[in-house]
Amino acid sequence: MRPGPGEGPDPAEPLLPERLARAAALAGPMPVSQFMAAANAHYYATRDPLGAAGDFTTAPEIGQVFGELAGLWCADLWDRAGRPDIAWVELGPGRGTLAADARRAMARAGLTPPVHLVETSPALRARQAERLPDATWHDSVDTLPDDRALLIVANEFFDALPIRQLVRGAAGWHERLVAAQDTLFLPVAGPAVPDAVIPAPLRAAPPGSVIETSPASVGVMRALAARIVTQGGAMVAVDYGYEGPAVGDTLQAVRGHAYANPWEEPGSRDLTAHVDFATLAAAAQGEGCAAWGPTPQGEWLRALGIDARTAALARAHPDRAEELAAARDRLADADAMGTLFRALAVTAPGWPAPAGFA
Ligand code: SAH
Repeated sequence: MRPGPGEGPDPAEPLLPERLARAAALAGPMPVSQFMAAANAHYYATRDPLGAAGDFTTAPEIGQVFGELAGLWCADLWDRAGRPDIAWVELGPGRGTLAADARRAMARAGLTPPVHLVETSPALRARQAERLPDATWHDSVDTLPDDRALLIVANEFFDALPIRQLVRGAAGWHERLVAAQDTLFLPVAGPAVPDAVIPAPLRAAPPGSVIETSPASVGVMRALAARIVTQGGAMVAVDYGYEGPAVGDTLQAVRGHAYANPWEEPGSRDLTAHVDFATLAAAAQGEGCAAWGPTPQGEWLRALGIDARTAALARAHPDRAEELAAARDRLADADAMGTLFRALAVTAPGWPAPAGFA
């Protein structure tokens, strides 16, 4: 069938690489953060990237036990905090799988809170609505409820937020920019940045070294931590990353379950960067929260009972025992996701210590 009026690509709205290339041609090379933000906004808005037929998979898609344990983590904290009025929040919920699994587990523990989802992609909002028709959606954390405690979960959310890159030249550090030649993009050294803004231990790194910061991630963490301090609550963020300050170019692209060139065809591939847990923890502490971890995902899941929960599910569904054990191994084993991914928790002053962060 031919597309009718208003359907199909709008000729006035060229594909993203052309738009970005034109922006770079008109205004000069753009910061890496602008390139990454535009590329990912287009990427997530135009597809469901998850699953075998997509570009990548995530912990909640690997096994229901991941979302269930995240939900039990929330319910346990809520219970020990004296069962206050809460809103349950997920940042970047993908297909809504974690939220649906968490909600089921929380309900069994007596917690049935309203669900608030922070999601910018219309395509993924539609997927989420299939599983969570009564949720409330938000474009940003700014509009989350301000009249009750917040229990917040974020899995592979912060890695999708834009980063800045600084690159060491022969004589000093420069902001890294992205230049465009027709529709080819390439990173170039931009204006010099003073040594004073470079963490002291990294200033003398060899030419070519890259330092990353994510002002967008810090902004989200500070806003949520400030809410948690005044409203009560907690957050757990699971991702892959490091504890900065550190040198390293971690910007990567994934397409069809394989690594791809991050500078090529922006908007057609998932761009991520490793998360700096130390900076996120410091941002939360700066607002007055307590920070816990980062703890390896495998340790966190084992402390929350992944072995017992997997065994119980296998008893109830003997035909799925093998698949359930495989999911547990993939999520928790050190040679799979168990140590690559880590959990960082943030809690309100006066709230109890969260489970799994001994
Ligand atoms: N948490 C899910 C999906 C991870 S993919 C899972 O584990 O399966 C990243 C998610 O963050 C997607 O839902 C994407 O649309 C969303 N996202 C990316 N950038 C965002 C932004 N700036 N604001 C809100 N959501 C964003």
